[in-house]
Amino acid sequence: MVAAHSASANGQTGRPEISGQAEGHASQSHPSHLAAVRILGVRVDALTYDDLLAHIGEFIAAGTPHQIATVNPEFVMEARRNSKFAAVLAGADLCIPDGVGLLWAARRLGRSLPQRVTGSDGVPLIARAAAAQGWRLYLLGAAPGVAERTAEILVERFPGLRVVGTYAGSPADADAPDIIRRVRQAQPDILFVAYGAPRQDLWIARYHDALGVPVMMGVGGSFDFIAGVQRRAPRWAQRLNLEWLYRLITQPWRWRRQLDLPRFAWAVWRGTRSGTGD
Ligand code: UDP
Repeated sequence: MVAAHSASANGQTGRPEISGQAEGHASQSHPSHLAAVRILGVRVDALTYDDLLAHIGEFIAAGTPHQIATVNPEFVMEARRNSKFAAVLAGADLCIPDGVGLLWAARRLGRSLPQRVTGSDGVPLIARAAAAQGWRLYLLGAAPGVAERTAEILVERFPGLRVVGTYAGSPADADAPDIIRRVRQAQPDILFVAYGAPRQDLWIARYHDALGVPVMMGVGGSFDFIAGVQRRAPRWAQRLNLEWLYRLITQPWRWRRQLDLPRFAWAVWRGTRSGTGD
């Protein structure tokens, strides 16, 4: 049935048991009071934007490396096919509910997620909090020049924000030593990685300890949206839960990936009808 749980209720860390955690890091710091819903085997944390900012503050105060993943239905379906990715999500300190499909799935499971918390909206909110708190940001990934433009825009919007590094880089292992050196030298509190999923999340997990940044978060196409390289769906389309349709029209090459959306809905529906839920 529904494997949803509140960690405070059972004293556990609230993460699903997944074997073969080759790429996942055994994190000690998953916020122990955080409720979570398990959707098709993937833990999704029940939190709001305010909770996210509070956890980021805690992670930075702790000073040890933490990973945040922005989970959506495509992540869940990829995790079912890719055990390394499943292990990375299981080991992440926060799995935020980035896709509206997750809120629907949670409801079907008789649970609830309080709010959709996206990476794209999260990045500027985190940048605003960073300007206020003095947190140092590093923007890694996207096409050459995009991270730089994103930094300029964020600094203009949030005076006082410290962006201590930007670099397009690449998720190739051969480039990792150079990237790790750059990031370590810059000593950020928060590292945003825009290599697209699942690559960015696998990359963060693989180099988690070597990078050693208190908050490391895969942010997909967020820099492209901020820098204006890609247009995000208009607010009305987001409100009508049609962001997926907008992306399909504007980025038709994503159709194969988007097949995961009906597959996800079907798997959740079938699971909740048969009572397995998982
Ligand atoms: N990207 C990159 N290096 C790569 C592959 C992708 O920097 O080797 C960047 C790409 O330029 C874009 C982001 O990763 O900025 C992926 O965006 P997408 O919208 O596909 O992300 P999603 O959120 O859908 O995973």
